[in-house]
Amino acid sequence: MVTTEKTKDNPLDYNSLLDRLYMSLPTKTLESTRFELPTADSIIQGKQTIWKNFSKCSKDLKREENQMYKFVMKEISTSSTIVNGTLVLNGIFNNFKMNQILEKYIKFFVLCSACKKPDTDIVVQNSVKILKCTACGATSPLPKL
Ligand SMILES: [Zn+2]
Repeated sequence: MVTTEKTKDNPLDYNSLLDRLYMSLPTKTLESTRFELPTADSIIQGKQTIWKNFSKCSKDLKREENQMYKFVMKEISTSSTIVNGTLVLNGIFNNFKMNQILEKYIKFFVLCSACKKPDTDIVVQNSVKILKCTACGATSPLPKL
């Protein structure tokens, strides 16, 4: 009996997906785009970090605040709340760290994996959310949150 060999779906875990994306991304991606990418405006107050323009960043990126929030929580395991568009994190994280996380989010959830342009939408295909590029039409999976 001949069994058709099926290419087994290789479920990418978050980290290997992350590595692959990083390897495939030219370092100048963020500079070469005309899209205005937001930067995180954050300050440290006592033992908390206040990401002042959190909601604005997600809006500028045309992404759901809740999704971006989940991503940040995955990056920094701490408790936090969103108050009036501001993300309040327990713990001290400098602004560089906040922007690193934001840039990572942009690479995963905003930039097209094929053409590296930020003109993308998140669409649902077979009840799975994917990133679809409006510039080149490429689709790519999103990391699980
Ligand atoms: Zn594209």
